[in-house]
Amino acid sequence: MIVELISVGTELLLGNIVNTNAAYLSERCADLGLSCFYQSVVGDNEERLMATIKTALERSDIVVLSGGLGPTEDDLTKEAAAKVMGRKLLMHEPSRRQIEGYFKQRKIELTENNWKQAMMPEEAIVVDNANGTAPGVIMEEEGKVMILLPGPPNELVPMFETGIIPYLSDKKSETIFSQTVKICGVGESKVETVIKDLIDGQSNPTIAPYAKNCEVHLRVTAKAKNEAEAKLLMNPVLKELEERFGQHIYTMDKDTSLEKAVADLLKERELNISTAESCTGGLLAGRLINVSGVSEVYQSGYITYSNKSKRKILGVKKSLLDKKGAVSKETAVAMARGTAAASKAKVAVAVTGIAGPEGGTGEKPVGLVYIACSVCGKTTVKKYQFRGNRAKIRETTVSSALILIRQCILEYDAERRK
Ligand code: ATP
Ligand code: MG
Repeated sequence: MIVELISVGTELLLGNIVNTNAAYLSERCADLGLSCFYQSVVGDNEERLMATIKTALERSDIVVLSGGLGPTEDDLTKEAAAKVMGRKLLMHEPSRRQIEGYFKQRKIELTENNWKQAMMPEEAIVVDNANGTAPGVIMEEEGKVMILLPGPPNELVPMFETGIIPYLSDKKSETIFSQTVKICGVGESKVETVIKDLIDGQSNPTIAPYAKNCEVHLRVTAKAKNEAEAKLLMNPVLKELEERFGQHIYTMDKDTSLEKAVADLLKERELNISTAESCTGGLLAGRLINVSGVSEVYQSGYITYSNKSKRKILGVKKSLLDKKGAVSKETAVAMARGTAAASKAKVAVAVTGIAGPEGGTGEKPVGLVYIACSVCGKTTVKKYQFRGNRAKIRETTVSSALILIRQCILEYDAERRK
């Protein structure tokens, strides 16, 4: 089945907001095995919106619209969609009551235009909005489906997950089951080379690689009559990938991030961690602290940007800084050791580098970064040469640090088992 997305809103056309709804919806539709051939963005203009909807209905089976379901004058998605489908808008009693309750509960005064949100196209399926007042709408007509969703992502995403996915799954006779294998520490082209034979010979399941910052995700998708059968088809492929990538696979759960995998690893090993950052200025600590429950393992974070703070807080020797410079292998190691000593954490990681755009020299160019990681006294240091602007270099440094932490813990494990 072919799905087409239409994002409605002049704000999107002007670049005032980023179209995250389209990114989310495309990804979820791909998960469901729906092919998406077209996406468009159209402003809050009834005539152009109706023309866009008509074109979409001619070439696609399912048309998903997002935005413009609100109470104001410029919210006209429902009106335009109903006109194209030749349906009247009628007061939908359950929605009217729900809107009334929503405002009463929050003690907000209801204005006349709020009732507009309870007007629904005749014979529509109304989808509950647990996080706002505009319900979603599904209309079916001659084998085609039109789905209208509210614009705010905090309303659209839960509605799609709980109200729309079950509807779409029911419509299809087959189940699509997909799993994401997340790989770190192996470059994109290497990953593709390693699985080239699997990709060339694939039909069901299929493997699709996606490169993320310092990571490669492989989405394995199987189609079958039911989930159990899909899993049976999928398991040998997952096993083969495990054999080929081994410990470079940090998770097979699509919701687990690299930082979460690192935090879990620390928890499992009963290790704790502290960080010292120069060029990333707290970004590494921030990413680790994004993980809920990390307080169990995260100890301290030092932002030692100046040489003075590297000396005072981490005990890096002045003579070392003078001789080797702040961005050097030796300083990174001294920072990691100083972090372990100052915080008493078993794992200490330190980052120092030149994020640019100024500050580079022939010998030490912009993008040169050293990361040192110390696990129970054993310190590993790595030199990196990153490319990109300041933000990109800092982001890549953080991901690389997480990968190095993971690698050092796994190596420490292996040593201990010897
Ligand atoms: P509301 O009741 O809030 O008016 P609505 O369904 O009418 O909701 P819009 O008016 O189109 O939706 O958008 C409301 C807000 O939702 C926007 O200001 C924006 O913050 C967010 N939004 C809308 N469309 C998108 C999109 N495609 N991607 C990300 N955010 C969006
Ligand atoms: Mg609106």
